[in-house]
Amino acid sequence: MNAEPLCEDPICTCLKPQYENNRWPALHLHVEPQDTECHGWKRLLELVDQAASDGREEFAPSKAMDRKDWMQVVTLPLSIAKLKAVKSLYLYSSNLVRIPPEIGEMESLERFDPYTSYRLHWLPYEITRCRRLKVSRVSTRALYGNYKYRPPFPRLPQPHDVLRPSGCSVCGGPFSQEPQQVWISLRVATDVMPLLVHACSDECIRNLPTPAEHYVQHPHQGGLDVKQPTAVDFLGGPPVSKELPKEPGVQAVSEPMATPPPCQPVAQEDHNTPSPLRRVLAALTRIFVRRPVEVPGHPEAAMIRQLQGRTCVYKEHAFIQKVRITEVRVDEWGVLLRLRIVAAKGFSPQQKKSFEAAACWANFSMSELAVWAPGITWYLVTDPSRVERILARAAELGASTNGLSQFISETGFPDGAAMIVKAPGPF
Ligand SMILES: [Zn+2]
Ligand SMILES: [Zn+2]
Repeated sequence: MNAEPLCEDPICTCLKPQYENNRWPALHLHVEPQDTECHGWKRLLELVDQAASDGREEFAPSKAMDRKDWMQVVTLPLSIAKLKAVKSLYLYSSNLVRIPPEIGEMESLERFDPYTSYRLHWLPYEITRCRRLKVSRVSTRALYGNYKYRPPFPRLPQPHDVLRPSGCSVCGGPFSQEPQQVWISLRVATDVMPLLVHACSDECIRNLPTPAEHYVQHPHQGGLDVKQPTAVDFLGGPPVSKELPKEPGVQAVSEPMATPPPCQPVAQEDHNTPSPLRRVLAALTRIFVRRPVEVPGHPEAAMIRQLQGRTCVYKEHAFIQKVRITEVRVDEWGVLLRLRIVAAKGFSPQQKKSFEAAACWANFSMSELAVWAPGITWYLVTDPSRVERILARAAELGASTNGLSQFISETGFPDGAAMIVKAPGPF
């Protein structure tokens, strides 16, 4: 069984500081124009028209397009408003940077799946008009204000023609003046999503619903000075998995939920915040009271736990680091590894000391040489002699992650490496 090759998904650097340090520059909305002359766009228009006329219930354009064409698509055409029968909108691994407000007119929509669209940082408020929308699968870490890292929201207003809807996001009425832009984080289907509102009036902003718990509790205009609740880490255990229904054509892969698990209250930055000492005690209690337990259906759990203490090489997109596994958790949900960054020659220095890599069972693979989460695309080379070779190459190459990336792929994921756990997901 071959290990999957490392794939490079389309990414941007907007939210990169969340993985590396806490210093944020002011963010800007992606306003890349769609090239409407390219083959990918023309093909997409055809597919939308076809789907509208045959009344199909699943619209999955990437399955009917070349990867190269699909990568030319940065938004969807306004004609998606014609997809009145579509229940499932599948936009997996796209290069999308925005979804037009016309998604609100897809009145049958039940499932929205833009998973691993890493440049899609927000959604239009109009998506809340999809009353039947029940299931979503977004890549949490791509979102502004996500609960894991709380990246900032871009400061509004950032008016731009490509963003402006034809009417007010809230009341649908015409704009008699420049629309007022605000952010609001709301639960939409199974995720809390940052939504961009274009409102016609103060009244429409007042009429917005109460934001989701553990998010900024009022509509706001973003910027670096907006106080968000603190990020939620996984000390309380990995969050509950979220599975799409297992049906043909729907990928049943899960990712940690976009909201904090209910047992893990988020410390708000207000008078109710417990003292730092109490928080530390609570965290220590959770760590030490936990005993290793057998995980039903996962006999390899013991082998995974043995990785604790290993020095490894971690890779996620262009982020490559020497790390030490300081904690391993395995349970019915999946696997969580706490990783401490170890400074080493050839890797860029980091402000943060440690981070986590987690994957549910549907998205966890392990070979004799490495562990990885194919859908979330992080990789960890664990075999000591392979790690040594990679570290030696990193020291030779200096800061060039390009050459190193290829070397990691060849060294840690060679053809023929014996598999210990194979993600049952579609990767
Ligand atoms: Zn971006
Ligand atoms: Zn309005």
